[in-house]
Amino acid sequence: MHLEAVILAAGQGTRLRDAAGGISKQFLDYRGEPLYLHCARTLARCARIRGLIFVFPPHAIETEAARLAALRPDLGLPLRIAAGGEQRRDSVRRGLAALSPEADAVLIHDAARPFVSPALINRVIEALERGAEGVVPGLPPTDTIKVVDADRRVDFTPDRRRLAAVQTPQGFRTALLREAHDAVPTDAEGVTDDASLLERCGRSVLVVPGESGNVKITTPEDLACLSDPEETVPVTGYGYDVHRYAGPNEGDRSRPLRLGGVSIPGAPGVLAHSDGDVLLHALVDAVLGCFAGGDIGLLFPDSDPALEGVNSAVLLDEVLDRAAQAGVRPVHLDLTVVAQVPKIAPHREAIRKNLSRLTGLDVSRISIKATTEEHLGFTGERKGLKAVAVVSALRRFNAPAR
Ligand code: MG
Repeated sequence: MHLEAVILAAGQGTRLRDAAGGISKQFLDYRGEPLYLHCARTLARCARIRGLIFVFPPHAIETEAARLAALRPDLGLPLRIAAGGEQRRDSVRRGLAALSPEADAVLIHDAARPFVSPALINRVIEALERGAEGVVPGLPPTDTIKVVDADRRVDFTPDRRRLAAVQTPQGFRTALLREAHDAVPTDAEGVTDDASLLERCGRSVLVVPGESGNVKITTPEDLACLSDPEETVPVTGYGYDVHRYAGPNEGDRSRPLRLGGVSIPGAPGVLAHSDGDVLLHALVDAVLGCFAGGDIGLLFPDSDPALEGVNSAVLLDEVLDRAAQAGVRPVHLDLTVVAQVPKIAPHREAIRKNLSRLTGLDVSRISIKATTEEHLGFTGERKGLKAVAVVSALRRFNAPAR
């Protein structure tokens, strides 16, 4: 089977064009490319498709050909362009005329369905390979459907199990579709898709499962579908902080040591403007790192008298709020205290528990590690201590990564 696909981008779509500022829907820009190119990329990912034909309105051919030449979409397939006609049916016919002579099977797809999946396309192709004359993707309607008469009175309610709302791509034996186009008069009523032409000719059309995501952009409300979908990605924030232990003559400026909001009795006091909780400070910076939110010194300057002796848990609270507003949800903490003194192990579980309370994370997601620097450097010489924090989080983006 030699299969090619015709992408119909010739419609006028006046309902939507006015709402979109005079641009026909298939030419709307979505993620930096015209809408019609999105389904083309998906079709090109299906290995059995050997060529693509774009059908554009005659007045748009030059512009779109230039646009495609500039975008140079590397679809890995021969691309051809055909001029559409007055009606959808005319456009399909011209698309069929542009198929390569060996194309014995064809998919007809509407460019206004940009979210079609390769799985759906392959279902249509596989049914053709199994010998179907025509194939349409369809879904059972979720609404109850009524057949009404000319006075809008309900005539009857068809059995929903026998109904299918059909989508594109629709697949055909090329010869049969051409035959049907020739056989059915152009003024025939109720011909709204290609499958109905085959049906009129007594050919069999098979329905394969469609997809609810394969929506057709038709009304201004549908434009909402085109705003970039949210994307949730794992992010990592890193924080680092150091505090000096108070010397023998600095006792009046020293703060009793707290780590992760837990008092560590008997430990050296630290010098700090705030309460000097080195572990919470590293954690605050790591949370900020998850959304490029600046650093603790920027947000809470030590020149601010209001922050004199402030409980660092309050700072963490503020930063977690900002993180939530930025779409960040921390899911795991890995914190390391580097100190010669005091010993951290006896306090580890109390710190985990308190951080669980402060962050709302289960303790199983909070790792506290401790190490010394083997009597080397300022921690080894007991001049101070440091902490390192790594926060793993999920961040919701509403713009694509570049
Ligand atoms: Mg600090």
